Parts: sequence; C-alpha cells; structure tokens
Amino acid sequence: MLQIKKFIENEEAMLRFGAELAEIAPKAFVIYFYGELGAGKTTLVRGFLRALGYQGAVKSPTYTLVESYYLQGRQIYHFDLYRLAYSEELDFIGMRDYLHESICLVEWADRGKDYLPNPDIHCYIEIQNSARVVVFKPETDRGQDVLERLNNKR
Ligand code: ADP
Ligand code: MG
Repeated sequence: MLQIKKFIENEEAMLRFGAELAEIAPKAFVIYFYGELGAGKTTLVRGFLRALGYQGAVKSPTYTLVESYYLQGRQIYHFDLYRLAYSEELDFIGMRDYLHESICLVEWADRGKDYLPNPDIHCYIEIQNSARVVVFKPETDRGQDVLERLNNKR
C-alpha cells in the first residue's frame, strides 16, 4: 500500500497541502487525523475548505463535535472528537450515517476508535519545531486511489 510522508515546513505549506488534497478529493471519503494539540490538523482542514471556496473562519468543532459545509457540490463534515465523553454521543449526532456519502475529516478519531469503522486514510501529524511531518496511510482501495492521485500531482 502506498504511504505518503511529507515534510511541511510552515503553516502556509500546511494550508497548501490541504488545498492539494481538496483538488483531487472524490465526493466521498473519510480521513482520520492524529496528532497532539497544535499539530496542525485544523490548519490542514482549513486549507482543504478554503480551496473549495470557503472564506469564513474554520475552528475545530470541539464543543459541537461536527461542523457541516456544502462547497462546490461536495458535502463535507469536519469532526473534532477531542471532548467526546462516551462513544454513544456519536449515535446522537448520527455519525455513522455521515460516513458513506460525504467527505469526513475527523480530528481525534482515536477517541471514538472502538466505535467507528475504518477510514479510507489515516493521517498522522508530528511536530518538529515549526515544521510538521505528515504521514498518510491508506486503509481502503479508495484511500489508496486518493493517495496515488495526490502523489502523481507532484
Ligand atoms: P490542531 O488542530 O492539530 O490542534 P491547529 O491547526 O489548530 O492544530 O494549530 C496548529 C498551530 O500550529 C497553529 O497555531 C499554526 O499557526 C501553528 N503552526 C506552526 N507551524 C505549523 C506547520 N508547519 N503546520 C501547521 N501549523 C503550524
Ligand atoms: Mg484542531
């Protein structure tokens, strides 16, 4: 399986990386993001949303768990499970129903890991001073396909 490892030297580069992902994104796929607070998960998502024309503020939906966007014919859900207290909360917001027909970008997915299905791609972000190392690992054929197209872009 193709893995992508990328050195991201600053916040601008992280926004660009999110934009590159948006440019090749199919209409439905799921990414789980991992990395400590301040790793840059939301920054990558912000780059993704802005590339599709979103101009408002993008904050982690820490208290609401999910924020919804409809951009250029794409339904996008941005989750942040940091404050998830118990996995049944994911039922209350109907998370499983979101996962098939749309783009789901999920921060702190490990908080719901006993409950959630596999994503198409796992994304690990590691802090190295002001730079970041981003590793994408596919989990499904669709995830593999997305990573191949991302790789061929550059
Ligand atoms: P998370 O959602 O993982 O908690 P955020 O994206 O909200 O992280 O915050 C990342 C913070 O780190 C921002 O304040 C951003 O300006 C800063 N930063 C510094 N260098 C980078 C980088 N290379 N990539 C992304 N963010 C960076
Ligand atoms: Mg965040």
